[in-house]
Amino acid sequence: MIVLKFGGTSVGTVDNIKKVAAIVSSMNESKIVVLSAMSGVTNTLQNISNLLSEGNISEASSVINTLNIKYLDVVNDLYNKDESIKKATAFLRLHNGLLQSLVSDDHTSKIQRIILAQGEIVSTNLFQLYLNEIGESSELISALDFMIIDQNNEPDNDYIKDHLKRILAKYPSTRTFITQGFICKNRKDEIDNLERGGSDYTASIIGAAIASSQIQIWTDIDGMHNNDPRFVDRTFSIEEISFDEAAELAYFGAKILHPQSIIPAKENNIPVLLKNTFKPEAKGTLIYNNARVEKIRAVAAKDNITAIKIKSYRMLLAYGFLKKIFEVFDQNQTPIDMITTSEVAVSLTIDNISQLEKIIQELEGFGSIEVDNDLSIICIAGNIAQNKKGVTAAIFNCLVDIPIRMISYGGSNYNLSFLVKSQDKVAVLNLLNEGLFIPLASQKKSVMV
Ligand code: ASP
Ligand code: MG
Repeated sequence: MIVLKFGGTSVGTVDNIKKVAAIVSSMNESKIVVLSAMSGVTNTLQNISNLLSEGNISEASSVINTLNIKYLDVVNDLYNKDESIKKATAFLRLHNGLLQSLVSDDHTSKIQRIILAQGEIVSTNLFQLYLNEIGESSELISALDFMIIDQNNEPDNDYIKDHLKRILAKYPSTRTFITQGFICKNRKDEIDNLERGGSDYTASIIGAAIASSQIQIWTDIDGMHNNDPRFVDRTFSIEEISFDEAAELAYFGAKILHPQSIIPAKENNIPVLLKNTFKPEAKGTLIYNNARVEKIRAVAAKDNITAIKIKSYRMLLAYGFLKKIFEVFDQNQTPIDMITTSEVAVSLTIDNISQLEKIIQELEGFGSIEVDNDLSIICIAGNIAQNKKGVTAAIFNCLVDIPIRMISYGGSNYNLSFLVKSQDKVAVLNLLNEGLFIPLASQKKSVMV
């Protein structure tokens, strides 16, 4: 059995829903199809919930009506048969009634989570009716019946495995199951979610629970690219990449895959294939444990980085200094991304600056503090730090004219990152592309230094 996940854009319009249905029905294997909400819908639901917390009840109700009109337009265009239109309209009437019934002054977090869950409930119901109309039989299983998170908001894998298996066993001849991404129940049996963008995570958790042979994530680009196509012209999609490298890239902004979603797939050794709904013939990117080794696989960047330097002669030959500094970040619940040290100074980077003022105040007790902002981390992923001669030289040879603020190398075998001013980011990405990737791509070889 395989798992196929389609994101918001893939189910965002009538044409796209038809494309997804064509992909699903062309696959012979038995499968679980995980769907996101139609693009923009979860944002709209979040907006409704925000309006309710502000007490703006009439506006919330009117946004619900606008959403309903959007859904009704989809229904009118998507289905040909009267029977499907009738069923879909009846479903939407109930659904709209439910949302309107949640409009009140008494807006709690529990109600907010019920509202946020509705996008996936609608997309899966409308999709199943469409599959039905084109003669493709399927079973819609509710994620709320098996996707459970524990008190730490982590999936309860044993529960999920057990319940999902039992549900699937009820339909021994069914080859296509449909379920919702993102939504789940919590330990209190309330509707909850896996956080924004969590549908990839759902797919990976399900893949692990049923030991699927592959997890396919269908989006609107053809796999991971070797560089950021928004800023660099000649990028290409990567055919294969290891989980370790993909994890480095996902964290640094290669937004194609939710970072958390790599974990269950990696731990259970299930290959993840990234595919393009709008170009199903393209190979996409396969992420798996035994990907062919490459010295340099891809480059990604992360913006809005702040660097903090703590300089103190008390650090010289002392121990316990770093611990005290880390404690400040820990107590202020601020993750540190990159860190470099010298004998008398530590530089580190953060991207969440909500506690910055407090952090600086507390650090001032340890030495002099300098803060730089508008920085970008550039991450290079590949088999970089494993006795590979010349890799670092090749990278920095491309960057002779670029001032570099910090370098982090050797933390993992799969990553070299450095910090530059954000105004230099586009130049850096292009220089690395020209210096490291283009010469070899044009030789029709995979990327090597
Ligand atoms: N619909 C949810 C969101 O927009 C989950 C997802 O699409 O992955 O965040
Ligand atoms: Mg999404």
